[in-house]
Amino acid sequence: MTDARDPDLAAADPEVFGLIDDEHRRQRESIRLIASENYASRAVIEASANALTNKYAEGYPGRRYYEGMDFIDPLEKLAIERAKSLFGAEHANVQPYSGSPANLAVLLATCKPGDTIMGLSLPAGGHLTHGWKVSATGIYYNAVQYGVRESDHRIDMEQVEKLAKEHRPKLIWVGHSAYPRHLDFEGFAAIAKDVGAVLAADIAHIAGLVAGKVHPDPVPHCDIVSTTTHKTLRGPRGGLILCKEPHAKAIDKAVFPGLQGGPHNHTTAAKAVAFKEAASPDFRDYAQRVVHNGRALGEAMAELGFTLITGGTDNHLLLVDLTSKHISGRKAATALNRCGIELNANSIPFDPRKPFDPSGIRVGVPSVTTRGMGPAQMVEVARLIDKVVVQAAGHDGEIEEDFASKTKAEVREFLAAYPAPGL
Ligand SMILES: *Cc1c(COP(=O)(O)O)cnc(C)c1O
Repeated sequence: MTDARDPDLAAADPEVFGLIDDEHRRQRESIRLIASENYASRAVIEASANALTNKYAEGYPGRRYYEGMDFIDPLEKLAIERAKSLFGAEHANVQPYSGSPANLAVLLATCKPGDTIMGLSLPAGGHLTHGWKVSATGIYYNAVQYGVRESDHRIDMEQVEKLAKEHRPKLIWVGHSAYPRHLDFEGFAAIAKDVGAVLAADIAHIAGLVAGKVHPDPVPHCDIVSTTTHKTLRGPRGGLILCKEPHAKAIDKAVFPGLQGGPHNHTTAAKAVAFKEAASPDFRDYAQRVVHNGRALGEAMAELGFTLITGGTDNHLLLVDLTSKHISGRKAATALNRCGIELNANSIPFDPRKPFDPSGIRVGVPSVTTRGMGPAQMVEVARLIDKVVVQAAGHDGEIEEDFASKTKAEVREFLAAYPAPGL
């Protein structure tokens, strides 16, 4: 109910309302190619923006520290059941605030401070939370990092095995934020079993592809699977941990009271909606189209002279080395952004340049696929990227305002046929 004492946002705070409105327009009018982003549906957004935010619910369904759980308990149970069914998991915890706290909870559940853990290094495409030095996971644990082969930039399973045998880690992470190929969960499971390590898959980037059955499934092979819910899975900003029954108690204890306080019930509601969406035939089709679009965009960019790390992609993202285009990743990304094409600069394996201005860009297709684009449109996206990169390379990264605004108009016109959900 709105009345004069409870005005809506536009009336109560025009400044914040205006910034949200501007961001909505920007998302509508940009070709969004950041591989970790997507467009959540109107239903997901609605479920996440309501008075469930008012409620404290520390604990788990049936075992709470506060009263008034009549509707919160069934809601969280529904989210748990949907997550288990979607991924075929024995146990699900839907409370992690996001992917990073989910990963810290996994470590809290399985390791003691100082224990050895193993993960893919950040420069090779891994995530900070897999033991990188500046992360809590690299400060509180003894992190050993594996990488990719210099010859083909793929994960070197022989190196993983050698390091695992040498360091006997308590836990091994398998997962990435910038690796364009399938992960060999079965191979990792054999190594983990051999050295007595817990195997944890972090499918933050690829959860939607796993749910859509277009990526090898980690659930049968891994003790624990963590993920975000907002990347290819297309849900609200949040985290999720799945595990085999023997780890269930430790995982629940690690999330609460080990790491977090009360769950964000509005986000739990939106996760439940997203899990239902992801179980639908439409989503299966979406995941399939993501993979087709990734391949099509890669082929179109290769034809325009871009160098693809590993030569292509199996998933939703491309890692592109811009050395052959004579421009740095940062300069290219900045120029593209001025033209309404949004992606991020990214280190490439064995990058000779610094992380803040690396040699590459990461290009993801989850968002443009959600807008309904197909392989034919990927050719146009590649052409627009190339046009801006070539222009920027010829002007030492400094494109002129006239070029930027004309390209932006071209982008807007191109996008008009592909409406963005939730906006
Ligand atoms: C994005 C990501 C995370 C972290 O998720 P946040 O929600 O940003 O904390 C963890 N692991 C991987 C592999 C990721 O890509």
